[in-house]
Amino acid sequence: PGLQSDIKSKKSNPFPPYSPTLSSETIVLETIRKPNGDTLYKKYNKGRFLGKGGFARVYEFTDLETKNITAGKVIEKASLTKSRARQKLMSEIKIHKSLHHKSIVKFEHFFEDNENVYILLELCTNQTLSELIRRRKRLTEIEVQCYILQVISALKYLHAHRVIHRDIKLGNLFLTDKMEIKMGDLGLATKLEYDGERKRTICGTPNYIAPEILEGKGGHSYEVDVWSLGVLAYTLMVGRPPFETTDIKTTYRKIRMNSYTFPEHIPLSEEAKAFVRFILIIEPESRPSLDQILENPFLTKNTIPQLMPASTLAVPPSAN
Ligand code: ADP
Repeated sequence: PGLQSDIKSKKSNPFPPYSPTLSSETIVLETIRKPNGDTLYKKYNKGRFLGKGGFARVYEFTDLETKNITAGKVIEKASLTKSRARQKLMSEIKIHKSLHHKSIVKFEHFFEDNENVYILLELCTNQTLSELIRRRKRLTEIEVQCYILQVISALKYLHAHRVIHRDIKLGNLFLTDKMEIKMGDLGLATKLEYDGERKRTICGTPNYIAPEILEGKGGHSYEVDVWSLGVLAYTLMVGRPPFETTDIKTTYRKIRMNSYTFPEHIPLSEEAKAFVRFILIIEPESRPSLDQILENPFLTKNTIPQLMPASTLAVPPSAN
């Protein structure tokens, strides 16, 4: 059972079972032109609204032939008038399409009609870690271990394919019906042309931004994802990001000085705190590699479950 994203219905029943909507609101038609000149049409039912992003609205899409259900990102072509916006979308599609890993949201299909671009993605019915933290406030260490391991697995795959995600944060980590983590939103990702290439520009404002991006000198590389992983681990344990303040300038100053503390009222093991300190190293060249992080005591001291039970969407695992 999963969670329904409809907030209104949560008042009466906070965790209704997940059920796809087949009541047709709209049929979306994909036109496929075959090499022999024939035209083929594929029909999708555009169902329940799942969420809204920067320039996409996301709905449940059902392939009416196969009954396969996906998350359909609908991007209005009218919003893509600037050539940079088009280029960014094309780059996101090209990178995402090339990725095949169990902890990365599967790119299923891509097509367009006169009005929109449609990106069909693996459906993740249990929302993101952002909603989970909102409900639970913070997670137990066993959950943090379980989720961090899956994120590291996805990052190892990305980096091995010369891809830097550059926007690792709660809202880009989805949960499936089985409670697997799926890394999504490759909107800020970049693929390096060669080993050792340094990236200089970054579009958008990534949330868990690394200090070397703020400094701007010498460019940045894979280590920015490692930094975000440290910020993510802290956020999952504490319930808010380490450098959070009310204004962005102060936050950026805190990041550059690596200035954060662990709140005393939250009981955290020494290993958990040491794990965050191990990752959040200002100099990117001194930051640990993903393999070194995997050997850290926080991830080796006990056995870590592969998946958490769905009950943890609402309550900590110890309450079971
Ligand atoms: P954008 O790239 O425009 O920021 P997002 O990828 O953030 O768009 O998607 C916006 C929202 O749509 C998400 O916050 C989430 O609620 C929903 N969503 C996106 N992808 C999926 C998915 N694969 N499964 C389920 N819901 C999704």
